[in-house]
Amino acid sequence: MDCIFCKIIAGEIPASIVAETDTLVAFHDIAREAPLHILVVPRDHHTDVVELAAKSPAILSELVLLGGQLAAEHSNGSFNLQFNTGADAGQSVFHVHGHVKSRILKGA
Ligand code: 5GP
Ligand code: ZN
Repeated sequence: MDCIFCKIIAGEIPASIVAETDTLVAFHDIAREAPLHILVVPRDHHTDVVELAAKSPAILSELVLLGGQLAAEHSNGSFNLQFNTGADAGQSVFHVHGHVKSRILKGA
């Protein structure tokens, strides 16, 4: 499958990785839209958050918790967690990912 996030997870394409667990990889978005902009991505390929919720709800829960942990570590703890779902909603990579965005970095 020609999936850019599967390639990042496999280490075939470099990324600025901020956290890894057994089930998730988190890395900085290449085109930052907020002072903190991290993508939290399940290692398993699912198309979008609805498919993830249906097939692996525990991993969706882990994704939310890791997003909160990273926001607490890297920002003042307030964050948006965004799942673009479908091309018309702006989804461009069809491997589910949560955008963790914070406006105020830790210590700012
Ligand atoms: P979507 O539009 O699907 O919700 O979000 C995809 C995100 O992946 C975009 O914000 C885009 O900047 C990011 N992205 C696309 N390709 C790469 C890449 O090769 N490396 C990283 N770090 N981010 C990427
Ligand atoms: Zn994938």
